[in-house]
Amino acid sequence: SPTIGVLALQGDVREHVTALEGLGVRAVTVRRPAELDAVDGLVLPGGESTTIVRLARTFELLEPLRAAVAGGLPALGTCAGMILLADRLLDAAAGQETIGGLDVTVRRNAFGRQVDSFEGPVRVAGLDRPVHGVFIRAPWVEEAGPDVEVLARDERTDRIVMVRQGALMATSFHPEVGDDPRIHALFRELVTHHA
Ligand code: GLN
Repeated sequence: SPTIGVLALQGDVREHVTALEGLGVRAVTVRRPAELDAVDGLVLPGGESTTIVRLARTFELLEPLRAAVAGGLPALGTCAGMILLADRLLDAAAGQETIGGLDVTVRRNAFGRQVDSFEGPVRVAGLDRPVHGVFIRAPWVEEAGPDVEVLARDERTDRIVMVRQGALMATSFHPEVGDDPRIHALFRELVTHHA
């Protein structure tokens, strides 16, 4: 079974560790470059993307994260984590940096103009039943490059809310909330197949 890290600078770290452990995956928190070197895959949790990226700089983790992801480390970004994996941002904070890797344009707080937070079923490619999507000041993928596979769209807006490109996967919603392990299981498969 692979070792999957959870970037533990800010956000819902514990919930991801619990979800991964529920699948029998060895889950570890990552705060330093040496911890990053020891994982087979990495979860970038929800939280506040500006805070996470600022702390990553402070902890001298931002360049190692960029190098690891560019070098093929499988990563799952959820909500703020989706923002961190995006190559391009809309409605970013001034000077907001990302790790990048996903050839997408992500709009921060995208649903906020209509409704701040909401929940509902999300049909995900490859899963037979919808997942219960929890969206909290969530981003969406506004544009996706040709190598990006769209795995889910929001039913009401038709916006892209889950993507995959190579070993990178991202969701607008929070799969670590509740006890449905299927998104984490998809990521475990991705990690296993990229090993
Ligand atoms: N709006 C947050 C951000 O821009 C993301 C929200 C979340 O992760 N729940 O980072």
